[in-house]
Amino acid sequence: MPSYPSYGRIDGPIVIIGFGSIGRGTLPLIERHFEYDPRRVVVIEPSDEHHVFMVQRGITHVQDALTPDNYRAVLGARLEAGKGFCVNLSVDTSSLDIMRLCREMGVPYIDTVTEPWAGFYFETTDNAARTNYALRETVLAEKRANPGGTTAVSCCGANPGMVSWFVKEALLTLAADLGRPAAIPDSRAGWARLMQSLGVKGVHIAERDTQKSVVHKPIGTFVNTWSVEGFIAEGFQPAELGWGTHERWFPPNGHRNQAGCQAGIWMDQPGALTKVHTWCPTPGPQYGFLVTHNEAISISDYYTVGDASDPEYRPTCHYAYHPCDDAVLSFHETLGSGMVQETLKILDENEIVDGIDELGVLLYGHEKNALWYGSRLSIQETRKLAPFQNATGLQVTSAVLAGMVWALENPDAGIVEADEMDHARCLQVQRPYLGPVEAHYTDWTPLTKRWSQFTEEIDESDPWQFVNVLAS
Ligand code: NAD
Repeated sequence: MPSYPSYGRIDGPIVIIGFGSIGRGTLPLIERHFEYDPRRVVVIEPSDEHHVFMVQRGITHVQDALTPDNYRAVLGARLEAGKGFCVNLSVDTSSLDIMRLCREMGVPYIDTVTEPWAGFYFETTDNAARTNYALRETVLAEKRANPGGTTAVSCCGANPGMVSWFVKEALLTLAADLGRPAAIPDSRAGWARLMQSLGVKGVHIAERDTQKSVVHKPIGTFVNTWSVEGFIAEGFQPAELGWGTHERWFPPNGHRNQAGCQAGIWMDQPGALTKVHTWCPTPGPQYGFLVTHNEAISISDYYTVGDASDPEYRPTCHYAYHPCDDAVLSFHETLGSGMVQETLKILDENEIVDGIDELGVLLYGHEKNALWYGSRLSIQETRKLAPFQNATGLQVTSAVLAGMVWALENPDAGIVEADEMDHARCLQVQRPYLGPVEAHYTDWTPLTKRWSQFTEEIDESDPWQFVNVLAS
């Protein structure tokens, strides 16, 4: 039996909310790396699909859906003041409300997205209010209103989450490779100055997921490698990105945000219909979907130099996601038919025959053009590393593990995002689960090998303008 490092003891209940693909994958990492009383694990999950699995492991299954009306009673009854941990891995629950309750009770908390209560994504009529910018601002307001206190880690999965730690590693790598090795900055201002001094214009969260099953996706089934509901929800939010100071063009359907951190803009079109030119090591140049994500805003915000409303420097940042092939086809059908498929399916580790999730950050616009830094985790390696998950899942669950470790080691840090955590410590915990973590330079730009049969708006004076990155 391999031995795994223990990262400390958790006294009191470990309450996991949601036992979907990420909840199931996180459990074995908690089992491996923390000391705790196994009888004190509670899972709040409305579905009975994995009830027997939980019972066999001695886990208390509370088969309830949390709602705005019941969460204080249902969750509050399971938490113990000043002890344990709350790990929120559900959809349709308010991260903000649950985080607030946990902090009131002195219980450390972690989630992987800023999730709203059910109904928010499709019943909110104002598109500005449906953005991740708006969701993130609610968490930032809570942080301002109640600074410090019990640690609550916001948005700590693979992305958002791990990719913020990759940005820092990539910056240190780039500095060294440019012959300007940098000491690890010890403040947000220091990191922002480092990025600025290296001439980075922007960051793509550049991902290619090639995991596949031998069974072809049937019509009427939405297939993905993680939450289908989560992906549909974010795919139908407005496309959104952190907006850098080097940008000279502005999307005709773009909107700035007047209040808040002002680091991002949103476009009047869904992320699932917004394609960008991007690059990953395996495929090279590829299309990605500019789906809104918390990290697009948080990274641009974190690396801002100067006044928020008129910064001296800010990088552009956005997701550029090529999901697994079946998910691309699934969204194509969803958009074409005007309805969500009847069957939602997450490909699990037993069905996937091949593929990797290549997830990294592409830092562009500097003297060495572009640097991709990230994890290239295959399904084969994932199977050897941890049970109950595919490669996408393990990149997320190992970030949850790292976030939990950091929270236990920093119990009074208040509300934090991944950008604000000790990236070296987090990656130290997470790295054994990431497969090859590599840096790749490329001379590719959005203007390389472009189809030129039709006229399109481009800016040849700077390949890294967003007008060149945006494909549709
Ligand atoms: P999933 O769809 O497989 O599971 C979600 C679970 O939440 C389901 O089992 C569902 O029954 C449960 N649930 C639904 N409503 C609930 C309620 N009201 N109360 C309690 N539980 C409820 O999703 P997943 O793939 O496990 O993802 C979980 C979360 O992690 C999602 O919010 C997803 O967006 C997020 N995620 C983040 C990252 C990242 O890198 N940051 C990556 C993948 C997933």
